[in-house]
Amino acid sequence: MIPRFGRAASSRKSLGVSKLLPFKNNGGHCVLGDIQCCTLLLMCVILQECVCVYVLEGDSRLQCDGPSHELPKEGKIRYETLCLQQQTQSQCCCLLLVSEDNHQLFCQVRPSQLSSMLDSEVSSLLCVPVVSRATGQVVALACAFNKQGGQRHTEADEHAIQHCFCYTSTVLTSTLAFQKEQKLKVECQALLQVAKNLFTHLDDVSVLLQEIIVEARNLSDAEICSVFLLDQVSHELVAKVFDGGVVSDDEVEHILCVQKEFRIPADQGIAGHVAMTGQILNIKDAYSHPLFYRGVDDSTGFRTRNILCFPIKDENNEVIGVAELVNKTNGPWFNRFDEDLATAFSIYCGISIAHSLLYKKVHEAQFRSHLANEMMMYHMKVSEQEVAQLLETGLEPVDEIHPLFAEFTYTPRSLPDDNTPMGILSMFEDMGFINTYKIDLHTLARFCLMVKKGYRDPPYHNWTHAFSVSHFCYLLYKNLGLANYLENIEIFALFVSCMCHDLDHRGTNNSFQVASQSVLAALYSSEGSVMERHHFAQAIAILNTHGCNIFDKFSRKDYQRMLDLMRDIILATDLAHHLRIFPDLQRMADAGYNPRNQTHRSLLLCLLMTSCDLSDQTKGWKTTRKIAELIYKEFFSQGDLEKAMGNRPSEMMDREKAYIPELQISFMEHIAMPIYKLLSELLPGASELYERVATNRVQWTKVSHKFTVRGLPSNNSLDFLDEEYELLQSQGALGDDSHCDDTHCLNGCLDDVVGGRSQ
Ligand SMILES: [Zn+2]
Repeated sequence: MIPRFGRAASSRKSLGVSKLLPFKNNGGHCVLGDIQCCTLLLMCVILQECVCVYVLEGDSRLQCDGPSHELPKEGKIRYETLCLQQQTQSQCCCLLLVSEDNHQLFCQVRPSQLSSMLDSEVSSLLCVPVVSRATGQVVALACAFNKQGGQRHTEADEHAIQHCFCYTSTVLTSTLAFQKEQKLKVECQALLQVAKNLFTHLDDVSVLLQEIIVEARNLSDAEICSVFLLDQVSHELVAKVFDGGVVSDDEVEHILCVQKEFRIPADQGIAGHVAMTGQILNIKDAYSHPLFYRGVDDSTGFRTRNILCFPIKDENNEVIGVAELVNKTNGPWFNRFDEDLATAFSIYCGISIAHSLLYKKVHEAQFRSHLANEMMMYHMKVSEQEVAQLLETGLEPVDEIHPLFAEFTYTPRSLPDDNTPMGILSMFEDMGFINTYKIDLHTLARFCLMVKKGYRDPPYHNWTHAFSVSHFCYLLYKNLGLANYLENIEIFALFVSCMCHDLDHRGTNNSFQVASQSVLAALYSSEGSVMERHHFAQAIAILNTHGCNIFDKFSRKDYQRMLDLMRDIILATDLAHHLRIFPDLQRMADAGYNPRNQTHRSLLLCLLMTSCDLSDQTKGWKTTRKIAELIYKEFFSQGDLEKAMGNRPSEMMDREKAYIPELQISFMEHIAMPIYKLLSELLPGASELYERVATNRVQWTKVSHKFTVRGLPSNNSLDFLDEEYELLQSQGALGDDSHCDDTHCLNGCLDDVVGGRSQ
């Protein structure tokens, strides 16, 4: 009679048998004879799964095909079996533990029992199901072999076993739970390692796929692994990386030489099926599976026994590839554990592949951006002829440019545009930068011409603005003894920053970039000061252009210092930044400036930059009036764009709403005057600057009654205000201060020059 253990588990009734065949020695393995057979039957019945149970030679444990985890060595289970042996007077007892997923049985016997089991014939066997009190599930089968004295097991033995487990099944269940946790821990550690390995290879999809193949093979003990990526366009599965075996090395070489990759239709075969359904496929016998194609095996002599094929999905749960594991090496086929592992593993694969592909795209975008930059730099390129022409007659001394070139009253906007590059070179020379920093004159000339070309031509934020801002920095250096307050490299950085501070300005402000979702906003809006970041980036791009790096003789440390200073100074031109640091500036002025204090120097640099940026307000009336004209012209074009976009511009930008005198006075009172007031507190010589701004503010109030329109008059000019100014002046109504820049204001045709450029 062949015992059917299955009945014990499925009917939950105990089973007794009188005779079993002895174990047979089968080569290296001691096959558990009929026990194996019984177990197979048993498993077929309860689990519809077949499991091999065999004994490894010289090992104390009986193992099945499951993962090679140690069986619990808990004293409890040992004690249990020993106790059963005594209770039932059997030659030996063992427990067959039913795994969580009901797919496996774990067996345990003691070494001494093993030898006795192997030596003697099994004459009787009692098999009793152990039911968990918590879940009602069969958690184990208790087996007692060979009742002493050749007797058969009795109902009393069955009761003894049941009695024993009645109190201890809970302990057994928790032991099993502990075992499961151990297993999960190992699994987690393995997966974490996999994740680590995969995520370090994001830069190269091929290397990543190779890594995936190795990891998948190791995790599941498969002989071979293949990974295919799904090509959505051609609807094919593509393998670019190969694992030895299925395709011979020669063939791989052949494939690689000819087509560098291996393609199959995305809806054919096992991989195709998985790609289409998105479901894992565990095939226990490949040759009997209808989707399996034997052709490759027949030509290579390889024998495919079983296959575990699983989809790799991206974060949207779309299949992006398929992995195929072939031939389980430490078991008859891939089990439930392998399926679970494959599912978890495929998530890591999906994320890493998706990221790797994204990484590749980002790289391509970067290259495209570099290319665009190269093209831009090419078109901005300064010819050698231009450089030679600029340097032809040598550096012009500043007082030859204009006798009052180094005075606060000089209006740099009066210098003809063509003369401005030489104006910059002369200032460089006069401040000693060329000597101190060993700047090559050709490099400097090329840099200056390049910066000039880097400006667009909006009404206000153009090169003329940059030139006059730089000139004001020069004035501060010459008239207020900046060298007593700052380090030389800081003054140098301030001057170069003034030149570069509005590079590539488009005549629109930061909030416009964000509202119009411009490329610049996409690049910089998360950090704030969108335009200022762009101006700095452009400055760096110019410095990086061949033959333009005026800092190339700097030590590494100084070079880094220079760029850091330039970044901080250019970012400080954002008025929002100025307003943020204003309380700190005020505190510094109250406490007294200390040139040895790094924070003080940084704050002062920001304040100086802002003073340079708004320095038009320190010139005569005609300048401040002309600047208002240019600024509002620029503002109103932005307002027009905003209206066209369907947005409502701010009042200042709206030509139908802006009342210029009011806006101008408010700007002077709230922004400009406090800046120069603070400056005069820090640098005593600066008080005349504050006075000049205050006078201009008074003048705006005096002419404001002439303003009858909102926005700008139809000719975009504020010339009509000058009549009033001249009338007031002739009546002496403006006081002495107003005369201070009269003569210089007319030093060169302010209106002609500025007008000539912008119109
Ligand atoms: Zn500016």
